[in-house]
Amino acid sequence: MEKKVAVYICKGCDIGASLDVGALSKVATDECNAAICRDHECLCGDAGREMIKQDVREGANALVVAACSPRFMTDVFMFDGCRTERVNLREHVVWSHEPNDEDTQMLADDYLRMGVARAKKAEVPDSFEAEINKTVLVVGGGVTGMTAALDAAGAGYEVVLVEREEELGGWAGKFKYRFPLSAPYRELELVDLKPRIEAVESNERIKVYKGATVGRIDGQPGQFDVAVKANGSSAEFRVGAIVQATGWKPYDASKLGHLGYGRCPNVITNVEMEELIASGRI
Ligand code: SF4
Repeated sequence: MEKKVAVYICKGCDIGASLDVGALSKVATDECNAAICRDHECLCGDAGREMIKQDVREGANALVVAACSPRFMTDVFMFDGCRTERVNLREHVVWSHEPNDEDTQMLADDYLRMGVARAKKAEVPDSFEAEINKTVLVVGGGVTGMTAALDAAGAGYEVVLVEREEELGGWAGKFKYRFPLSAPYRELELVDLKPRIEAVESNERIKVYKGATVGRIDGQPGQFDVAVKANGSSAEFRVGAIVQATGWKPYDASKLGHLGYGRCPNVITNVEMEELIASGRI
């Protein structure tokens, strides 16, 4: 369909008082060759919308609304059979720059040029049906990854869980105590991941790769092609969604010599303290 570009410049919300709307209109018509350019005191009101609708009835089909943020009045400027490009003169230009200033006017001109270019070139994409894969890839077999895998499997999805270490559990598996998770929240609780690990490894919907890394991910939501490397071999499969639960790495405390690390034996990291507790040395 041949495009008929129509530009509408709102003068409300300080726009008309801060910009030379006549000069802006010339940018639309003389420079950008828009078929129509009109301004209005309040484009979002009934009279402003009716003005646009009349042009649509007469063949305008690529609309540029130079007014407020596209997050505002979104539905108000949607018209059947048309694409509407929004140019944010209010928040991006007049509310954030000096009014009636040469640079502010130039900024408005540029935003309008870009809006008209989008209106000329953008097309509504043809709709198509994509095959959506329902398998969930969980990267990381710590508490977060295992919980995500169990929840997804419990909701009926197939899950592939990839863990870099040879065992599930992550950092939490190395710690002895954790913050209390149940009332009255006074005593630390022992970390016991065994039931959760068993639940993951025995779940028929969860395929676990241990000692494995994700080598490649291509594609898009619903259609991710994944390659996993494990024990010298590689497995490739498709998933629809990916949960990144890759955890954290301890900071290199050797960079904190100014805090006494490496010089004072009693200055240790939280991980080293957890290891002391787990080994029973404190
Ligand atoms: S809300 Fe938007 S369309 Fe309505 S008067 Fe203000 S700038 Fe114009």
